[in-house]
Amino acid sequence: MNTDPPDVAATVARIAAVVGPQGIITDPRDMEPYIVDWRGIYRGVAPAVVRPASTAEVAAVVGLCAETATPVVPQGGNTGMCGASVPHGAGQIVLSLARMNRVLDVDALNNTMAVQAGCVLADVQQAAAAADRLFPLSLGAEGSCQIGGNLSTNAGGVNVLRYGNTRDLVLGLEVVLPDGRVWNGMRSLRKDNTGYDLKQLYIGAEGTLGVITAAVLKLFSRPAATATAWAAVPHPDAALNLLALLRRHCGDRVTAFELISRNCLDLVLRHIPGTRDPLEAIHEWYVLADLADSHSGHALRNELEIALEAALEDALVADAVIAESEAQARALWRMRESIPEAARAEPGMLYRHDVSVAVSRIPAFIREARVALEDLFPGVDVICFGHLGDGNLHYNAFVSGRYRSDATAREAHDVTDLVYDIVQQYRGSFSAEHGIGLAKVDEIRRYKSPVEIELMRTLKQALDPRNIMNPGKVL
Ligand SMILES: Cc1cc2nc3c(=O)[nH]c(=O)nc-3n(C[C@H](O)[C@H](O)[C@H](O)COP(=O)(O)OP(=O)(O)OC[C@H]3O[C@@H](n4cnc5c(N)ncnc54)[C@H](O)[C@@H]3O)c2cc1C
Repeated sequence: MNTDPPDVAATVARIAAVVGPQGIITDPRDMEPYIVDWRGIYRGVAPAVVRPASTAEVAAVVGLCAETATPVVPQGGNTGMCGASVPHGAGQIVLSLARMNRVLDVDALNNTMAVQAGCVLADVQQAAAAADRLFPLSLGAEGSCQIGGNLSTNAGGVNVLRYGNTRDLVLGLEVVLPDGRVWNGMRSLRKDNTGYDLKQLYIGAEGTLGVITAAVLKLFSRPAATATAWAAVPHPDAALNLLALLRRHCGDRVTAFELISRNCLDLVLRHIPGTRDPLEAIHEWYVLADLADSHSGHALRNELEIALEAALEDALVADAVIAESEAQARALWRMRESIPEAARAEPGMLYRHDVSVAVSRIPAFIREARVALEDLFPGVDVICFGHLGDGNLHYNAFVSGRYRSDATAREAHDVTDLVYDIVQQYRGSFSAEHGIGLAKVDEIRRYKSPVEIELMRTLKQALDPRNIMNPGKVL
């Protein structure tokens, strides 16, 4: 049944005239990949998916949407975890940036690159590498997520420990505003104190304040050497102390430090072809750590080895392996990055929580939340992994043999409320890196202070008074 407002067809026809036949999809079968989110939880309807080829086209399309009060859902690679990138409500147009995928400029001496928002993250990394530079943002979805989506979710990933979140990797932005005007803030400056830092408003805004069409990104020296270790640790306290020890030995050459529970590894071994347990014995917890340096080869590996030996002596590590080649390092990282996919393949109900607390409080949080969950839900399996170095855990409760259809809404609320209430007691965040989207609209109301919500609403109202940008998401 078509639930679109009556004038939507006319708006779509006017948009089609702007973007041409290459730039619009209206066949429901072809729209399918754009209206369902990556996790397959949120499914919307849309009168059209619009795929503009330039900022001018985005501006013209958004201008038409503003004139006709047609809601716009900006979309990148549609790998987001909170349902923010798919339509929710009648008559919402999906605006995909996929055709705007050009690297505009690489300035190696300034350590910057300018890219269109639809560039796939892996292509951005490759373009930086071709200029002998590093763009450090890296995450499991990098083969399909787009830099515009990374910016709009302030994506984290595995290198936050050393380089920061996406927010820290940006110098300039170009944004199409909700009235169709273009703000060109494509500056390549490391110092610019000329009033409010407007770009930061759009970073992490999940498409609710405007459409990001291009960005100037920071580049870094490319590591000449990297070393990767997979280590078994007896418990999360040991992992935390191992991080401190590694930093004592290797300073800020520690670029990534991931915690993985054994049942995550079991899921990967079960569902991801070509994977194998890196160690012989079974251990409760693992750490995957990366070191990187802009020079030295063997020295880095030796340093890691010495640090791990010290950790073995201190009983922080039970066993460990250091990758002997890039291929081995990639294989170890594949295990970590495949955990979400493996968890999806396991029959059962997974309640996901992307949370953060102060790094030092991670072990206590894991303990407390587990006891509380087991109390509520005897037999629950806690599938816990994440960026321990950033205090960010994917703290998931898994109930085998249970399905979304028979898991009651009450049950879901009980589990998530329990986890987020403990996060709140730890002064943590109920959404460390995935954002709010549709999935956490209730939580933002529950856990943010009225003052904070009011400030956010004031900004939204000022910048998007007709509420056409991704309505229903975040606030
Ligand atoms: C296997 C896997 C691993 C992941 N690992 C991580 C991880 O380690 N860290 C992490 O932070 N995330 C991770 N994610 C989540 C996801 O990949 C990130 O949130 C990513 O940044 C989303 O990018 P995207 O291009 O797919 O955006 P989309 O999903 O298309 O959109 C996300 C949000 O951004 C908005 N948006 C997209 N493009 C624009 C634009 N040009 N202008 C304005 N708004 C826009 C959308 O409206 C939506 O609100 C992972 C996802 C998967 C599937």
